[in-house]
Amino acid sequence: MSQGHHNDQFATRLIHFGSEVCKHTGASSVPIIQASTFHHEDIYNPPRHDYSRSGNPTREALEEYITVLEGGTRGFAFASGMAAISTAFLLFSAGDHVIVTEDVYGGTYRLLTTVLNRLNIESTFVDMTDIAQVQAAIRPNTKAVYMETPSNPTLKITDIKAVTAWAKSKGLLTLVDNTFMTPYHQRPIELGVDIVIHSATKFLGGHSDVLAGLIVTHDPELGHQVKVLQNGLGTVLGVQDSWLLIRGMKTLEARMKQCEESARRLAVWLSERKDIVNVYYPGLPNHPGRDLHEQQSSGYGAVVSFDVGSGERAKQVLNKVRLPLVAVSLGAVESILSYPAMMSHAAMPPEVRAERGITDGLLRFSVGLEHIEDLLADLEQALNTN
Ligand SMILES: *Cc1c(COP(=O)(O)O)cnc(C)c1O
Repeated sequence: MSQGHHNDQFATRLIHFGSEVCKHTGASSVPIIQASTFHHEDIYNPPRHDYSRSGNPTREALEEYITVLEGGTRGFAFASGMAAISTAFLLFSAGDHVIVTEDVYGGTYRLLTTVLNRLNIESTFVDMTDIAQVQAAIRPNTKAVYMETPSNPTLKITDIKAVTAWAKSKGLLTLVDNTFMTPYHQRPIELGVDIVIHSATKFLGGHSDVLAGLIVTHDPELGHQVKVLQNGLGTVLGVQDSWLLIRGMKTLEARMKQCEESARRLAVWLSERKDIVNVYYPGLPNHPGRDLHEQQSSGYGAVVSFDVGSGERAKQVLNKVRLPLVAVSLGAVESILSYPAMMSHAAMPPEVRAERGITDGLLRFSVGLEHIEDLLADLEQALNTN
């Protein structure tokens, strides 16, 4: 009983993924095996797990879980999204070059430009929405293409299939940061991608209470390489957090469905207002990547960015809102309102920010599970105060 089956619908796989019931006791949740090491009953027959950096049953349950959800063959859990991303980039060696989405997550940009560059792993940042730019960036030493779609905070869409097909024809590895969509909406491995990465801190965890990262691979040899790195670098997720993440992920579909429905309402509501300069949401009819996004994803997600016209007005809204958390991060049960110009993208020169649409008036709303009417009323009063 309680056996996961790959033909089951996503909602069913979320609940029955294989390790959800303790195989020894029948307990209704995977046990927290709070141990760093394991007893060798017989020195010639070592236990299946010998040391928790190399393998722990609770962490393995989580790793199996994300593998089932993404449709891969192997999964790995890390101490944070950045631990997962930095581990993935260490698949490359000195002298290698990677092509990266220009509006990649800030921490990924920092890793590439302040750490990996010192190890002589080079990167070129391109507008991934334009495949000609991706193709033009190739060099003799290029090894991979790293995508993030929708991108942050202006939700630009990359054609995962087209970029991956081209990359494959050139022998390049493909990686996708799937944090914004989650496997509920988008499964890059099914589109041919080699490595899927998550900041599970966001929608997968879903409760702003755990920091974690995940990787899923399809090719067994690549999976083996990631395993060697995870064990060698020791970037693993702790046992308590592994359990907490499993607990949060079980409600992923219910949360994403509800949050997305509200996000669509919010995006339409904002786009009908005369005092909003720009609304960025892949579900809006005027979003330039909408058709493409619909081909590769089953939904638009719960993040809506919008420009209120000026930095002064943005700060006023941040001061006046009653419900959303004013904070970095996203993907939680509570709504989170972020101010990219002073938070995630503060380090970016103002002219580069402006070029990418990250104006002083831009706000990013990660829609939570509050009633949408309350969220709209709250935003209305915040926008209308002078
Ligand atoms: C937050 C985030 C990360 C980094 O994850 P952490 O868990 O904060 O280390 C990477 N990519 C995206 C898209 C993110 O939103």
